[in-house]
Amino acid sequence: MTRVCVFLEAPGGKLKKSAAEMMGAAQGLGGDGTIVEGIDAVLIGQGVTTLADDAAALGADRVLVADADAFAHFTVDGHLKAMLKAVAASSPNVVIFPASTTGRDLAPALAAATQSAILTDLVELKLTDGDVCAQKPVYAGKAMATVRGSTDCVVVTLRPNVFEPAAAEAGKSAATETIDAGVTQDDIRTVVKEVLAKASEKLDLTEADIIVSGGRGLKGPENWHLVENLAEAVGGVCGASRAVVDAGWRPHEEQVGQTGKTVSPKLYIAIAISGAIQHLAGMRTSKCIVAINTDSEAPIFKVADYGIVGDAFEVVPVLTEELAKLRT
Ligand SMILES: Cc1cc2nc3c(=O)[nH]c(=O)nc-3n(C[C@H](O)[C@H](O)[C@H](O)COP(=O)(O)OP(=O)(O)OC[C@H]3O[C@@H](n4cnc5c(N)ncnc54)[C@H](O)[C@@H]3O)c2cc1C
Repeated sequence: MTRVCVFLEAPGGKLKKSAAEMMGAAQGLGGDGTIVEGIDAVLIGQGVTTLADDAAALGADRVLVADADAFAHFTVDGHLKAMLKAVAASSPNVVIFPASTTGRDLAPALAAATQSAILTDLVELKLTDGDVCAQKPVYAGKAMATVRGSTDCVVVTLRPNVFEPAAAEAGKSAATETIDAGVTQDDIRTVVKEVLAKASEKLDLTEADIIVSGGRGLKGPENWHLVENLAEAVGGVCGASRAVVDAGWRPHEEQVGQTGKTVSPKLYIAIAISGAIQHLAGMRTSKCIVAINTDSEAPIFKVADYGIVGDAFEVVPVLTEELAKLRT
């Protein structure tokens, strides 16, 4: 029998898209005949109590809620205290976090505090002979490692956009329990002075189903409309290579790769991007990769499902026009 505890990220009082994916992964456990005895969802934040019904709809058997002003901003100090209380109430065998900035911060702290094994950035998760058995990309995505955690409780982080989301069932109810973590401002050593609101309302790259990225081959920022128009035609968001970000053509939040964001969209279109190993590290697990490049030997074609050897300045406008027609 396995108990699973799932941390649901809810910045700004709204569940992130990854919440449904984490719940889906929890429901998918137990493939080796192990019975998943119960799934506890954990909500930590200011005003998150109102999200308990959403967590229940996603299949939580019980929702553990730590709602306090001290959780208004994410801090490891505050959230860890609440998470430790949640884990004590849940006694889970597996604790699931998204491999987001928050999850990457909080999960190792929890694993260290509870002396649990930790498996990070997983793209597959199952139970084998009672152990947590998982797959994760290594060597910048060039290989997959099978990893296993055999402590009583195993903490995992799962790559967003990889796991099948749990289907929301409206009206489903779950017991809701309040966690009194007793966290006050004095417990928190980090002071959040200012939160810079994102300039755009666009979906975060790590959550997008479709990404259109541009590289240095586009010659300059004045040509970025090619990327933006194609992204609009396919309902996607824009990404960029580091060369482009370093040149100041695009903001760092759009950078995909080893020192940028790790993304796994359903469709990744790479325009005039060579496919350096550091770029591939961030997008190799995309489900379908389309590359447009003048150089047929460009490494991006080695990972591409579909490739167009051609000049982006000729290919992209035609592609945009044709794809836009399909959407109308
Ligand atoms: C420690 C470290 C970390 C790094 N992290 C990252 C990272 O996170 N993300 C990242 O992207 N890079 C990263 N890099 C940089 C990486 O090594 C490459 O330099 C970078 O990805 C190259 O960007 P690019 O493909 O846009 O440019 P280039 O390598 O210059 O490639 C441009 C491509 O455009 C093609 N092209 C030119 N003209 C056209 C045209 N008209 N139509 C179509 N195609 C055309 C060319 O054939 C070429 O393949 C990192 C490097 C280091 C050392």
